[in-house]
Amino acid sequence: MRIIFLGPPGSGKGTQAKLLSERLGVPAISTGEILRSAVRAGSPLGLQAKATMEAGELVSDDLMIALIRDRIASPDASRGFILDGFPRTVEQAAALEKLMAGNGPGLSAVLNLSVPEAVIVDRLHGRSRDEGRSDDRPETILERLRVYHQKTEPLADFYRGRRLLADINGMGDVSEISDRIDQALAVAVSSGRTA
Ligand code: AMP
Repeated sequence: MRIIFLGPPGSGKGTQAKLLSERLGVPAISTGEILRSAVRAGSPLGLQAKATMEAGELVSDDLMIALIRDRIASPDASRGFILDGFPRTVEQAAALEKLMAGNGPGLSAVLNLSVPEAVIVDRLHGRSRDEGRSDDRPETILERLRVYHQKTEPLADFYRGRRLLADINGMGDVSEISDRIDQALAVAVSSGRTA
């Protein structure tokens, strides 16, 4: 299965993508984690991305599309993958369609996690205290949300138009949310949209 998680920062995409990866046996690919480890390693990619990430802005489409092209071509992704944090712009979504065209089944589903904004802000402040992620700094949080609304939220309509979107209530226990995801995927499978 080829699955995308959509949703604002702090909506639980990373947690749910990892759990779903274990259930399905396909890799969860987090572009944010790839970039953070590149920053830690001081690689050319990390040096390019660091300041942008710390400002709460998006790394360029060209860079991200090249990164995901290579990643989904790796052998471990041949049976499917779960994307967490990509695509984040309509340009990235269109590029992903092109990359996947003629290369196995299309997308199975796009899972859109929704959590009220006030809860998101609380969670990101908590993560800033507990994990010290530099882009969860209080001054960056509002910018990340602004960028999400402006550039990423339109992807919900993009994928709704392709009949791939499943809205998932992202409030509640982790296991409750996982159950909702499994139900949405069962619907996607039974409607013949997937492989
Ligand atoms: P995340 O862990 O998904 O919240 O990503 C952390 C940061 O990495 C984002 O705020 C962006 O600066 C950058 N990033 C991750 N994925 C993308 C993407 N698909 N396009 C552009 N920037 C990204």
